[in-house]
Formats: sequence, structure tokens, C-alpha cells
Amino acid sequence: MLHPVICIDGPAASGKSTVARLVAKDLGFVYVDTGAMYRAFTFLTLEAENDPSSRDRIRQLLAKMDFHAGIRNGEIALREGKRELAEFTRRPEVNAAVSVVSALPELREYLVNVQRRLRLSAPLVMEGRDIGTVVCSDSPHKFFIDACPKLRAERRQKQGQEDNLAARDKLDSSRASAPLLRAADATLLDSSTADARSLADLIVQRFRSSQKPGPTVP
Ligand code: C5P
Repeated sequence: MLHPVICIDGPAASGKSTVARLVAKDLGFVYVDTGAMYRAFTFLTLEAENDPSSRDRIRQLLAKMDFHAGIRNGEIALREGKRELAEFTRRPEVNAAVSVVSALPELREYLVNVQRRLRLSAPLVMEGRDIGTVVCSDSPHKFFIDACPKLRAERRQKQGQEDNLAARDKLDSSRASAPLLRAADATLLDSSTADARSLADLIVQRFRSSQKPGPTVP
């Protein structure tokens, strides 16, 4: 059985992670950060001293990789073999290369399969760039969170992270395979004008009312 999934897409530092976590907590759903998966592979690519844009090398890496995405404490824990990958995903060199690595169709195909399989295990709140358009395009629960570029840049700075958001957004939006795009049926939310709590409340309320049985026809 496929569990429900709430899809939350948006550009870097749009505030979608904060909202997605709140929604997952409120509903008791598992929070899935798909960006962390692309980041984990980017780290492994760089660690193996591969050229981030080499399809052949990524293909080889994927073939020999022992990658696991398991559910732990309501979130996804990523491992390669026995090694936990979470601590490596926010490094500046990963920020700089992740959009190049994640443009590779072979990697996307691999991770989309991993992400889709998670729906067999639990109800999910999944955030990323292509969740509503590709990964879970059949879901009726789709949201796209955006914010003005200035605010997004300030957010990243406050987090103390070195991250060229404009470059990442450009690559993510212009790639051929599953570009960052709002699904036609996704609700657009602006985190420049509303705080994370109120956006999460709106999503939770929408989801709950979609689950209420409609009027029965006698
Ligand atoms: O969400 P986050 O900013 O951590 O994502 C890091 C990068 O991973 C994005 O800039 C994008 O290149 C890639 N990504 C993607 N598809 C997703 C999630 C993330 O291509 N579903």
C-alpha cells in the first residue's frame, strides 16, 4: 500500500525544511529531506576524488555504493555501508558541487526510486525540487514554498553557511532532467510574508480537511 505524501518543493533557503519538519511533527509523518540525499552523494563523489560532472564516474560510484535510506526517529537516516552521512552533507564544498552532481539523470533515477519506495513504509512529508512534478506527481497534496532572493540569502548567512544560492537556483532551474518547477496543481506559499508556523498550519489544515469523508449520497 502507498501511504499519503505531502510534497513540498521550492528553491534553496526558501524555508521549506522548517515548514516540512513542523508539518511532519504535527501529523506524525516521517520527514524526508531529499536534498540531503543529493548532498550525501555529492560528498561521496568528492571524497572519491571524482569530477562532479563525470557521468561515467557517477555511474561507477552508484554501481558499487552500499547506500541506505532508513527511517529513524521520524526522519530519514542516510548511510553508506555502516557510515552515517548526515554530518558531511552541509560542507561548503558540497554546497558548491551539489547542483552539478544532482543534474545527472542516472543519479536522479536512482534516488527517485529510493524516495518512491519510502511511501511503502510510512506517511511522509517529502521536500525537494521535483517531488510534486516527478517523484510523487500522483499526490494530491502539493505545495511550493518561495521567498524573495534577498531574504533567502540573509537566512543562509544567519545559518553561517557559505552557499551561492543564485548559482544553485540557476543550475537547478535550468537542468534538463527534473528541473526545479512548481507543479501546476501545487499551492504557492510565500515565506517572505508568513512565518513557518502559519504556513505549516495551513498545510496541516488542508491535509486534514482532504481526509474528511465527503457527504454521502443517499
Ligand atoms: O534542499 P537542498 O538545498 O539541501 O538541496 C541541495 C541540492 O540538491 C539542490 O540545490 C539541488 O541541486 C539538489 N536537489 C535536487 N532534487 C531534489 C532535492 C535537492 O536536485 N529533490
